[in-house]
Amino acid sequence: MRRLIKLRLEDGRLPRGPVAEVLDGAGNGQPCDACGAILAKDQKAVCGIVVEDWRSLRLHIDCFQVWDLERVEHCE
Ligand SMILES: [Zn+2]
Repeated sequence: MRRLIKLRLEDGRLPRGPVAEVLDGAGNGQPCDACGAILAKDQKAVCGIVVEDWRSLRLHIDCFQVWDLERVEHCE
């Protein structure tokens, strides 16, 4: 999963920039923006808005944490 998130950071599908309005939410049956697995409606998710282009993101909580870590590493 970590590798996939790294790849998506590299190809720009996941932003490196800041995310606004990060909220705890639930899945909506759409794929997770990090791992691509479906976020089921009974699963907890993290939602946010990418400041760069106002895209909305929805990720598993675990994916969000990995992305957050990888993102920081990328910046250094
Ligand atoms: Zn995920």
